[in-house]
Amino acid sequence: MYFKEIIGHRDLKRRIRTAFRTGKLGHATMFTGKEGFGSLPIALALSRYVLCTNRNDDDACGKCPSCKKMDKLIHPDLHFVFPVINKKGKDPISDSYISDWRKFVFNKPYGSYVDWIKYIASENKQGGIFKDESDTINRKLSLKSFESDHKIMIIWMAEKMNDTAANKILKILEEPPASTIFILISVFPEQLLQTIISRTQVIPIPPIDSEDLVAYLELAKGLNEENANDLGVFSEGDLGRSLELIDRMDELNQNVQNFSYFLEYCKLQQTSDILRFIDTTLGKDKTAQIEFLNYILHTVRHNIIQSTIEKNSKNIGSKSLEKSVKINLTLVQAKTLLKMLTEALNHIERNVNARIVFMDVAIQLRKVLTV
Ligand SMILES: [Zn+2]
Repeated sequence: MYFKEIIGHRDLKRRIRTAFRTGKLGHATMFTGKEGFGSLPIALALSRYVLCTNRNDDDACGKCPSCKKMDKLIHPDLHFVFPVINKKGKDPISDSYISDWRKFVFNKPYGSYVDWIKYIASENKQGGIFKDESDTINRKLSLKSFESDHKIMIIWMAEKMNDTAANKILKILEEPPASTIFILISVFPEQLLQTIISRTQVIPIPPIDSEDLVAYLELAKGLNEENANDLGVFSEGDLGRSLELIDRMDELNQNVQNFSYFLEYCKLQQTSDILRFIDTTLGKDKTAQIEFLNYILHTVRHNIIQSTIEKNSKNIGSKSLEKSVKINLTLVQAKTLLKMLTEALNHIERNVNARIVFMDVAIQLRKVLTV
């Protein structure tokens, strides 16, 4: 991954390169934000840049021996730590999964934690960064760098570190051997020990700018303008999610219509219509149920963004409501709905009966909207 391959984030990339070149990049940096915003690709581009022996202002050269090794993610001075699962016959450390990891990163650099765990686990499993991992981190970093002036340790999904592992790396994170760069990546940094966070320089990775995302979907993925725009809006700056949704465009558009009906039945308290809707429109398709809830979540968030924009009369070029159902919400109402919908999503994911979940959503939607 090169800086030039990263979608959007022009200023951020420039600031990161400048920080490195001017010696202002701390020895431990933490990128925060959703996986699909690009934290791992940025970490990989930065690593390539740091290890390249012939970098220019903008990017790594692509030709030096170091770049050639980065092409295969086999540079001996680049180390990875990521969540793994407990599997019979395999030590629960990243090294046991490194070839799977390389394949995953090549195929899905914007992929999520859930994608990764699905990739290595045949059944529903929880991933973690366990205590043995901290021993390998300490051991690897105590060695001299092999080929480069620097050693880099990328810890992906750092919040998955259990407390024992986290406590065991505190010392090396605070005082790493010379020329070591830690890059921690986290979606939920609030789940990390404060002692870890305080030892890093946090750089938030924001959602990808809608224009950049839409342009990418048109140019690289061949979507027409309308579909690219819709997807850019629905995925809210998350490239991983856009790529996941490409094959589901029709369904996405259908959800706009479906939500209008659903809302109408809720307002009129037409229980029989609501149940019919749940049974026939959502049926037993768990993915359709999840996407419908995601669509409502998206609508609630965008209604709030839109009303804030109108209030401040600033035009940020949002096309976000063109295909959204309009509902008038106060911030408090939106908060209640977001919480309720997130819970509903959890319930569906845990296979709670869809009729019960969506009936509850209907009742609560009505309650909030008629207050
Ligand atoms: Zn190079």
